[in-house]
Amino acid sequence: MSSVRTRLAPSPTGYLHIGNLRTALYAYLWARHNEGQFIVRIEDTDRTRLVEDAVDKIISTLTLVGMRPDEGPHHDGGYGPYTQSERLNEYAPRLRRLCEEGTAYYCFCTPERLELLHEQQIELHLAPGYDGHCRHLPLEEAHAHIANGDNYTIRLKVPRNETLIFNDMIRGRIEFDTNQTDDTILLKSDGIYPTYHGAVVIDDHLMAISHVMRGEEWISSMPTQILTARALGITLPEYAHLPLVLGNDSKKLSKRTGDAFVSDYIAKWYLVEALLNFLALLGWHPGHDNEIMTMDEMIALFEIRDIHKSGAVLDPIKLDWMNGEYIKKMEIWELHTRLASYLEGYETSFYKNIFSQKDYIYNSRIIAETQTRMKRFEEFVSLTNYLYGDASIRLDLLINPKMKIETEEQGLDALRFVLPLIEGADYSSLESLKAPILAAIAVAGKKNGQILWPLRVALSGEEFSPGAFELAYILGRDESVRRIQKNLA
Ligand code: GLU
Repeated sequence: MSSVRTRLAPSPTGYLHIGNLRTALYAYLWARHNEGQFIVRIEDTDRTRLVEDAVDKIISTLTLVGMRPDEGPHHDGGYGPYTQSERLNEYAPRLRRLCEEGTAYYCFCTPERLELLHEQQIELHLAPGYDGHCRHLPLEEAHAHIANGDNYTIRLKVPRNETLIFNDMIRGRIEFDTNQTDDTILLKSDGIYPTYHGAVVIDDHLMAISHVMRGEEWISSMPTQILTARALGITLPEYAHLPLVLGNDSKKLSKRTGDAFVSDYIAKWYLVEALLNFLALLGWHPGHDNEIMTMDEMIALFEIRDIHKSGAVLDPIKLDWMNGEYIKKMEIWELHTRLASYLEGYETSFYKNIFSQKDYIYNSRIIAETQTRMKRFEEFVSLTNYLYGDASIRLDLLINPKMKIETEEQGLDALRFVLPLIEGADYSSLESLKAPILAAIAVAGKKNGQILWPLRVALSGEEFSPGAFELAYILGRDESVRRIQKNLA
């Protein structure tokens, strides 16, 4: 069994951010690449910031994108996440031991004192931080306070005047000056709940995590975590701090812009496969230029050393392009099924009714024609309006000098010519429809475009559409004839 174990450690303070999904994906790919395990850990020790249904939403999103953990408590017929609030007996005893050993200390400062200290520091333009008031309190005195029932927190005793050297798998060597590091709280004053720092170091160790992938905003927590691990006598995992995912304006994606959360993309009906492929390339270069990759291909190629240092800009145009590529590759029946449920969501539109009332053959011919031009499901509606509803009459579009049609009358002549052919055609296949009409055009000594352009315009009423034969084949004899006659009238 491989010893590579990765984790996603979301705090349930909101829904899954698109950057978190990218982090999850990299952790998942690295675990799979090495035949290791990927686990999920809910970091919910900050009880004041919990959002009620966040855990369910996070798990259902991971399930939807196919990234269930390989291990953990049972949940919905599979493995679910570990949850820190359900593991509280793992933290406090270990952290208290550090106080007894002298690498951490009990701090009895009241919130009022700390508040006052903070205000003074702001006033004097000093860097905020703990002033070390309880750092040198003798252990017996601390014990006496505790026996007295006084509330305390546990703080890390950060050694002074030391340079910590750390190697990040993406950024390389990073140094920290411990004089810049606060005596961070590891256990809160309720005596039970660890802070993020206290819990994360203990859990990564107990869960035998080999590689931590997380956003680069966590680099600043490294000194505290390095020293906490040193105090606990444990070895830290390897770290890869990932570049931020930025919006098109190179700023952080936010709630305001409506593209920050995974649910925003699901709501827009992006295909999950396309979204994951797109996210994988936000910061990772697989070493070749073929950007469309299956999950298995990504797993095979993924290397942490190929992740970039610089921030990755989320380009929605590229996402649309990639989504279009996945739509092109889909089987018609599958696209039909997904479009049908997408169109279900159209409350009042006739689409919902018309699409579901047209038979599968009618719909799938339309899908086959639009599949190559549709980047997002919502475009299906505008691309096919004239096929589900009526076509507009656009006599102006009949004129096309390139096809030597200089006047509307010439265009209408072409329609008069083609009407009996369309009426008498054999609609059993596209070929059987097409061949005799092409032959008749040739016999009459006309050019294809001269006839087919006006026919296409009459059938679609659009500047751009599939070709004339494809349209006639989709619409069928009666409707094709009706549309041509309407133009002639
Ligand atoms: N719980 C942290 C978060 O919300 C995770 C940080 C880490 O991965 O260490 O992102």
